[in-house]
Amino acid sequence: MTPETICNRCVSLVGLPDIVILDVEDVPGAALRVHVELTRSPQGCPTCGVIAHVKDRRRVELVDLSMAGRPMRLVWVKRRFRCPDPSCPTGSWTEDEPRIASQRPMMTDRAGRWITEQVGRNARSVAEVARELGCDWHTVNDAVIAYGGALVDHPDRFGAVEALGLDEVLMVRRGPWHRQEFSTQLVDVGRGQLLDIVPGRSSTEPMVWLANKGKAWCDQVRFATLDLSGPYRKVFTLMTPGAVQVADPFHLVKLANTKLDECRRRVQNETLGHRGHKSDPLYRCQRLLTKAKERLDEKGHEKLTGLLRAGDPHGDVATMWQAN
Ligand SMILES: [Zn+2]
Repeated sequence: MTPETICNRCVSLVGLPDIVILDVEDVPGAALRVHVELTRSPQGCPTCGVIAHVKDRRRVELVDLSMAGRPMRLVWVKRRFRCPDPSCPTGSWTEDEPRIASQRPMMTDRAGRWITEQVGRNARSVAEVARELGCDWHTVNDAVIAYGGALVDHPDRFGAVEALGLDEVLMVRRGPWHRQEFSTQLVDVGRGQLLDIVPGRSSTEPMVWLANKGKAWCDQVRFATLDLSGPYRKVFTLMTPGAVQVADPFHLVKLANTKLDECRRRVQNETLGHRGHKSDPLYRCQRLLTKAKERLDEKGHEKLTGLLRAGDPHGDVATMWQAN
């Protein structure tokens, strides 16, 4: 493409801030290579403020979002500047724009975020995303680790939680006596989102968890939902004294049923290798499983145990059901 045919409309198609397009390399069968440079100039020296000279230019090739289904590379022509004042300690530096890419980039910032969403939220495989962007598997995987890791470690990843729920869950039955082991789920009741699971059903672990979140976070909790167990009441009384305690397990039951259903589908897939058909035992007990135990009559209970025996050889679904 000649410079005359590159216009502002091309810039808006590329969709990056404060750039000019220098060139577009369009070789059939290869990724579209868009050469760009930042518009802002002149630049002042970061130390003394004197207008800087452009010393040279360096090309950085970045994997970018695909454009109209075609892989794209952003060739960022970065200027190196030099301070003209010989007594200035700064010497030279390379221009930078975090809205385009980070300091140590393989790809544009927007491509990194998009990849993380595709793999993390939409459960697409790294290989599939790499194919779509026309790049290496490792490049995509590294981006997921870099961007996804930052999200997991981010102290505000849960945001403010207005209604916090504590709920005990039977995790496993261990050993020859099927000793029960419990854990505690921390749930954002308003959003129906599981925040974390901590071991045991005493007050200790949830209190440590809340202490790590800090007082400001705890003070934002306005409602605390719990069963009527003493330990959980103690957690809320000590850690979120301003929250109204509500004995309302409704949302937790709903969440647990979702988890139970996930478990049922997984076991179904593992044992029979396909999704539920009408005649499969686990598919047939779907409705019975979500019915509260006390609302199940003897006949329903018998039918459910029979179906579970047939479709749930390792007792995974049964354990989840018992825990519900
Ligand atoms: Zn300077």
